[in-house]
Amino acid sequence: MLDIPGRTSSAVGALDRMFGALPPKDVLALSIRDLFPGRIAVVSSFGADSIALLNLVAEVDPSTPVLFLETGKHFEATLRYRDMVAEKLGLTNVIDLVPSAEALAQKDPDGLLHAREPDACCAIRKVAPLYEALSGYDAWITGRRRDQTFLRNRMEVFEADGARTKINPLADWSQDDIDTYIWRLELPRNPLVDESYASIGCAPCTAKVAPGEDVRAGRWRGTDKIECGIHGAT
Ligand code: SF4
Repeated sequence: MLDIPGRTSSAVGALDRMFGALPPKDVLALSIRDLFPGRIAVVSSFGADSIALLNLVAEVDPSTPVLFLETGKHFEATLRYRDMVAEKLGLTNVIDLVPSAEALAQKDPDGLLHAREPDACCAIRKVAPLYEALSGYDAWITGRRRDQTFLRNRMEVFEADGARTKINPLADWSQDDIDTYIWRLELPRNPLVDESYASIGCAPCTAKVAPGEDVRAGRWRGTDKIECGIHGAT
């Protein structure tokens, strides 16, 4: 295990300067095996592009915890895909994170909070369960990329996230890089991609995308919401 000089934002900045330009698989191997052994998890939506990061993680260590936010609002196809991918890649530690039953009873008794207050719905179904689970880890890995939104275009590979380190191994990859990687290895995509869902989240908040539209245009369509909140504003 490497000696990490504290977990201050400047220490994480040093990590990024030293290792942020490595290829994604090297970033993952360094992070999982050397920087944070036994104290790191991946967060995955098992969405349109998730298989790329999950395959790289499986090649490094298939027992790495994979946290899935089981909001209770996913497409059935996504839940089946999660199970199929875990088996195909040999991922042995996929963990469903569920919302608090008490919070749901208090704030979303009819299950329609997503339509009234999507930010509040994401807060109890995604943000709270994730951060409760992350209290058991020192670092987490995401599939975020700089080309996804203007808010992410200056994102670093190693980011300070409060007391934790957030690692974005695919930050520098483009959509073409992802597509090529998935095509070259013949990896299975979420089947909803073939139904014109270019970015896939909870069913009530995910719409199909027309050719030429931004890939995330179908997320919370008709509202000004663009993120679920697990990454703050980005
Ligand atoms: S994406 Fe929609 S259904 Fe899912 S947690 Fe957020 S508001 Fe609720």
